[in-house]
Amino acid sequence: TQTVPLNYTELLGILASTPDEAKAREWSEYYTSGPHLAGKNLSQAEWTRDRWQEFGVAQSEIVAYDVYVNYPLGHRLALLEKKSKNKHSEGEQSKGSDYKVKFEASLKEDVLEDDPSTGLDDSIPTFHGYSASGNVTAPYVFVNYGTYQDFEDLTTANVSLRGKIALIKYGGIFRGLKVKRAQELGMVGAVIYSDSGDDGSVTLANGNKTYPEGPARNPSSVQRGSVQFLSIAPGDPTTPGYPSKPGCPRQPANASTPSIPSIPISYVDALPLLKALNGHGPKAKSFNKYWQGGGLKDKGVNYNIGPTPDSLVLNLVNEQEYIITPMWNVIGIINGSISDEVVILGNHRDAWIVGGAGDPNSGSAALNEVVRSFGAALATGWKPLRTIVFASWDGEEYGLVGSTEWVEEFLPWLNSSAVAYLNVDVGTTGPNFRASAAPLLNKALIESTKLVLSPNQTVVGQTVYDLWNKHISTMGSGSDFTAFQDHAGVPSIDMGFSGGKNTPVYHYHSNYDSSHWMETYGDPGFHYHATITRVWALLAARIAETPIIQLNATDYALGLKRYLSSVKEKAVNTTSFQIEGGLPFNVSFRGLDFVIDKFHNASIEFDTEAEALLTKISENPLPWWRWWEKIRLYRAVGKVNAKYKGIERTFLYEKGLDGRPWFKHVVFAPGKWTGYSGATFPGLAEAIDAGDVAAVFRWMGVITEIVLSATHALTKD
Ligand code: GLU
Ligand code: CA
Ligand code: ZN
Ligand code: ZN
Repeated sequence: TQTVPLNYTELLGILASTPDEAKAREWSEYYTSGPHLAGKNLSQAEWTRDRWQEFGVAQSEIVAYDVYVNYPLGHRLALLEKKSKNKHSEGEQSKGSDYKVKFEASLKEDVLEDDPSTGLDDSIPTFHGYSASGNVTAPYVFVNYGTYQDFEDLTTANVSLRGKIALIKYGGIFRGLKVKRAQELGMVGAVIYSDSGDDGSVTLANGNKTYPEGPARNPSSVQRGSVQFLSIAPGDPTTPGYPSKPGCPRQPANASTPSIPSIPISYVDALPLLKALNGHGPKAKSFNKYWQGGGLKDKGVNYNIGPTPDSLVLNLVNEQEYIITPMWNVIGIINGSISDEVVILGNHRDAWIVGGAGDPNSGSAALNEVVRSFGAALATGWKPLRTIVFASWDGEEYGLVGSTEWVEEFLPWLNSSAVAYLNVDVGTTGPNFRASAAPLLNKALIESTKLVLSPNQTVVGQTVYDLWNKHISTMGSGSDFTAFQDHAGVPSIDMGFSGGKNTPVYHYHSNYDSSHWMETYGDPGFHYHATITRVWALLAARIAETPIIQLNATDYALGLKRYLSSVKEKAVNTTSFQIEGGLPFNVSFRGLDFVIDKFHNASIEFDTEAEALLTKISENPLPWWRWWEKIRLYRAVGKVNAKYKGIERTFLYEKGLDGRPWFKHVVFAPGKWTGYSGATFPGLAEAIDAGDVAAVFRWMGVITEIVLSATHALTKD
């Protein structure tokens, strides 16, 4: 029988109608039914590969790496108080026995009768990925969020940090960078806790009741997570820049992992430590207008900074086993008619906990539904124009390991072929659509959200786009897009639905990120799972199928203008960079303004030409006997597409950023001291921060050259 190929509208119809709530729930239940810690989830990798093959993506296989990684052996956190002298007059005492245990932290999350995934024998202990083993006993200091600025404030106020343990609130920045700064300042350990003050005021019914009775944070919940120095380099810390293949050479890990021990704790375990600080050192609130303390004031915490006296110390024990062990990506490929134009869709599969219904398996369930939907299209005989690659990453949680090693291995191929990378990590934990994107992809993203109905139909017919705040963040880090965007120069998107101030608290990296939570609070009915699937699939189709690659250069140019004006603002506001209240002699941004303007003009012209070409080939298909014109047209299309494909890559700088050469992009990088949120023109911005005029000139030169060559690449014949 003869099959008539699907047209684009029919393809979109299949991709929008195949995703199904019941199926998404089925995949979610599978993934959350057993532990799937990185490097310990081979059966889930095989299962994923087998499903994808069943769905019709025959070319699906496991790609493994040998990764340096830690697994927990033991831990302890105790508050010790010196016994008063008269209590032990029996002569010689060892130093340890001079202290009595005032409080022993449980370091465990409560077993909940209502939530069957919390009481399992194979529960994953609470620990930090890539944390250092150690056994330290020392006074401690409350360091607020442990941001760079928080530590600056403490140093300025002469709060003694050296030799102390840092008690740190989760929030604001990536946890590994809290530990990094504490370590640099001579602190000997870090304890990071989840403060209920950062959960938002839940104004729902039963708002103050804690999970599982209500939507508020369960007091025993602990946020596990990696403490790798993410902004230095992600991936296997022993193989920066090359893949962790069996037998490969390895570097010392300490360039991007801590040397001081750290552990995560709940606020129940933090309470006695915070209370014991009462009366020691200044109060957070009076100390600095940005230091508000936290949400445990009604539980008797005054949020004093400390340090505690030598008679009141913490004993922190962190015991980790470090090994080199396989991790397994699943890679599925649908070959397109054009083999050197490739769009990649990825989600990580590994989780910190047995469940992980939100992180990552709401995304994993969606990815399976995306693959199944494309499988339904393949079943009609359809074949994509461009090649589509699906990736289920392992090892994201430790430091984006599976995706980074894969990008490092296939860098030359990505360089010649990759058009875009579309990441969904947490698919849904609430109703609010959020996205970060390379500006080249802004338009494609926006147009795709307009095609998908929101599960919220308080106004009939409203789409994801209608209910979105329309904010697109710049690319930072914290998920698997990082190696694509910042190392390989592949324009990327990261998106999903999440909660807000007035939605049930999401127990990130905790046992309570469970099926039960998802069914009860997160996404009852799995409508948002199906919705993120549709946005993802339709966006992929737009990029894979439109004859002209759907990137927009003008949006990039407009982005560059915005980023440059924020750099200018920084220069004006950074007093350490100035001489006598003005910019140092000869520093002018006029050169950069000029070349970015040129790039802007070239972009407008190029996008306009490309659009005209698209109209020409889609609206008036030439009859076969005008084959000569057809050939000319297709040559023109190939040329335009090659240019679009190359734009992001021209912004890579071989030497990379100062002090972190793995990061090659001159426009985007994770903030050096934020990790999650992005920095723009990072080389230049950091040079200004450092007050380093020579580096400012050097980076102006680098950026000028790059913008000029990007302009040339667009305008050349
Ligand atoms: N998404 C994980 C986290 O935020 C891993 C991030 C990373 O290591 O880059 O903890
Ligand atoms: Ca590597
Ligand atoms: Zn995740
Ligand atoms: Zn995570």
